[in-house]
Amino acid sequence: MSSHTEQSAVTVLGLGPMGRALAGAFLDAGVRTTVWNRTPGRGGDLVARGAAEARSPEEAVAASALTVVCVVNSDAVDAVVRRGAVTDALKGRTVVNLSADVPARARTTAAWADEHGVGYLDGAIMTPTTTIGTPDAVFLYSGPEELYREHRPVLEALGGAHTHLGEDVGRAAAYDIALLDIFWTAMAGYAHALAVAGAEGVSAAELAPFAKGIGAILPPIFEQFAADVDGGGFSGEANPITSALSTIDHIIDTSEAHGIDARVMRAVEDMARRVVERGHGTSGFMRIMEVMSSRRS
Ligand code: NDP
Repeated sequence: MSSHTEQSAVTVLGLGPMGRALAGAFLDAGVRTTVWNRTPGRGGDLVARGAAEARSPEEAVAASALTVVCVVNSDAVDAVVRRGAVTDALKGRTVVNLSADVPARARTTAAWADEHGVGYLDGAIMTPTTTIGTPDAVFLYSGPEELYREHRPVLEALGGAHTHLGEDVGRAAAYDIALLDIFWTAMAGYAHALAVAGAEGVSAAELAPFAKGIGAILPPIFEQFAADVDGGGFSGEANPITSALSTIDHIIDTSEAHGIDARVMRAVEDMARRVVERGHGTSGFMRIMEVMSSRRS
């Protein structure tokens, strides 16, 4: 692991699975690390590895110029840092908030930080705890670029790829929401697919190699459709939505024949059918975006 300068110091507030992974990676990289968690006793092995465990959040944030907060959500962030003594101790220091929440909450927290002389960057972690400290970790940040440049050397101790998305502090959360949207929608599809396959006597293990193949189709689609959608196009030359609708109907029929809930796929079918009813049957599937978004329809 790379060794950081003796001056490098960080405080980690929140020692859930992710906070512990972050603190561990900082320690492995030689960053002087102070930790605190609402429920005491979570810092044990981190202390054995060299972390200082603070008795209060104000004591913790006073130990470093940079504090990384990683708790369940913004309500928890508020409960930890938006309190008199902690806010006072944070004045002139920087908070990097790696707790997941919505863009509006990032903006509210940034306004609070601004009002109290606290530097603030919002962030999102896009990979699981096992990636932290490895090249596979992915971190997104938004907020003042100068602050990001200043603290990047310490943040890089976490390994992986670090990307600053811009000065609008809500951007990291916006990316997080969009990317988790892809993830959970795909996971709902996977769960439904396993239920239907199981009802047809196909086990999850039997399907797995082919499921991976379907997953591998998606990355090039993301590249190809990015240009199409940003340009306002919904090209359907290779696969018109009428054709997609036919396969969607097969999924619903098979699912419901087995008494399996097909509501997720029915919602997709409803949107695709409305595209066709609007006279866009030769468009590509992505035209359902127009139906989803009242602003664009
Ligand atoms: P959790 O999301 O379960 O968060 C647990 C942490 O939040 C604990 O430190 C807990 O303290 C603290 N907490 C909860 N409520 C409060 C409160 N009211 N006041 C103070 N502290 C509170 O676990 P993770 O560590 O896994 O996740 C932390 C963040 O990282 C989340 O926003 C999550 O979405 C994000 N993340 C996690 C990933 C993962 O793989 N785990 C992947 C990517 C992002 P206590 O111990 O006292 O309960």
